[in-house]
Amino acid sequence: MDLQRKMKKELKDKDVFKKAIQFSFEYIDGIEVMDVYPNDYNLRQLDNFDEALQNETLTAESVLSMLHKFGSKATVAQTGGRYFGFVNGAALPVSLGVKWLSDVWDQNGGLYLTSPINAKLESVCQNWLVDIFNLPLNTVAGFVSGTSMANLCGLAAARFRAFKNLGWDIIKDGYIGAPKLNVVVHDQVHASIKKTLTLLGFGLESLTWVPSDEQGRIVVDKIPLLDHSSILILQAGNANTGSFDDFSNVFSRIEGSDAWVHIDGAFGLWAGAVDELSYLTKGLEKANSWSVDGHKTLNTPYDSGIILCKDEEALLNALQASGEYIIYGGSREPLLYSPEMSRRSRAIELWACMKYLGKQGIQEMILGFHKRAKQLESGLLNLGLEVLNEVVFNQVLVKGRTEVETKRIVDFIQQSGKAWLGGTTWNKEAAIRVSVCSWVTTKNDIEELIILFDSAMK
Ligand SMILES: *Cc1c(COP(=O)(O)O)cnc(C)c1O
Repeated sequence: MDLQRKMKKELKDKDVFKKAIQFSFEYIDGIEVMDVYPNDYNLRQLDNFDEALQNETLTAESVLSMLHKFGSKATVAQTGGRYFGFVNGAALPVSLGVKWLSDVWDQNGGLYLTSPINAKLESVCQNWLVDIFNLPLNTVAGFVSGTSMANLCGLAAARFRAFKNLGWDIIKDGYIGAPKLNVVVHDQVHASIKKTLTLLGFGLESLTWVPSDEQGRIVVDKIPLLDHSSILILQAGNANTGSFDDFSNVFSRIEGSDAWVHIDGAFGLWAGAVDELSYLTKGLEKANSWSVDGHKTLNTPYDSGIILCKDEEALLNALQASGEYIIYGGSREPLLYSPEMSRRSRAIELWACMKYLGKQGIQEMILGFHKRAKQLESGLLNLGLEVLNEVVFNQVLVKGRTEVETKRIVDFIQQSGKAWLGGTTWNKEAAIRVSVCSWVTTKNDIEELIILFDSAMK
């Protein structure tokens, strides 16, 4: 049978899809008993993928089966309830179901013309996000792969505007001969900010660095005088402590300066959606651009970041796209709001999560992360451990009674297969960071984690 006929038959028979469903269901049902981090044996099984590419065409089912056999067991069980690493989040069931369907659609989300449904849902998500986060009504959104890309877009827009303020067109004239901008960051900016600033041509040593306090918040009194050539980068949710910059105070200090303020709110911006926590994001609506992830706090599948920007002209200019064969209609054109052209239609899962949860569900889920984090904090204090951060949101930063014990706890829990969390350094000391960011995590999961800390200390 020739290749095309073979594949048409596979599409018609659906065996590969039935198998995919079967394997997925096995995975879902086994998630709470599998090792949270793959054990050494399962990691060694990955060597099975080290092979030369064979000549002949295989069956779709055999490829899928191989992936399941050696791949599923070598995954990190972050869709289970006891993964506390980074700030990762799981995936809501509705988002996976919707993703399966939309994967079958395989829409190119770049243009209205290539996917009207994606363009429509992007507009809907934009409106909902502006509402949820209480942002200025003229704010526009671009849908990108994560906050790193969102930061790139926000800072590119900032760069465009700040240069424009000085009478310079960076898109037309580039850097040679350009005036200097004043980019102000604080010690605790996320690595992705440094990554994107350097991509945009800002050398790390050319930045103005402002100190941060013991929780990782910018020291407001140390912010220098800003003007229309300045870009100030703030943070909603420090990746270690979960702390938020004091936005109201910052904006009082810089009032009238015309500086562009970008807020990296990868996971923390969502605090603003919760009545009990929205004091943390108070004042941030005065910024010019905001970055946020769907795939962290909102628990969409990966590949979901959003740039929100109230200066549409700056964003569109910074991400300019033109080409003779690109046909713009009268509707929203997704590629104008992101650096990519062809891409998956990622707003679909974001739409599904918000639509499913509703405002009330969003609040309940996110407040749940905070409650679990507080539960963990008190359990750890009871064990005699020192919690290093104010647990204002979903992050708990803790250390052992000695540096050796800190490391031992991390190793013990990572090796246990029962939970996973990471080590870090905070104020030059070794520390343990726990991120409660999954809809799956229950009170029981937190209790089990506390027991693991206790065992590690014995
Ligand atoms: C995770 C994170 C980022 C990077 O986001 P990605 O989605 O991983 O690209 C940026 N800033 C903060 C504060 C983060 O927590």
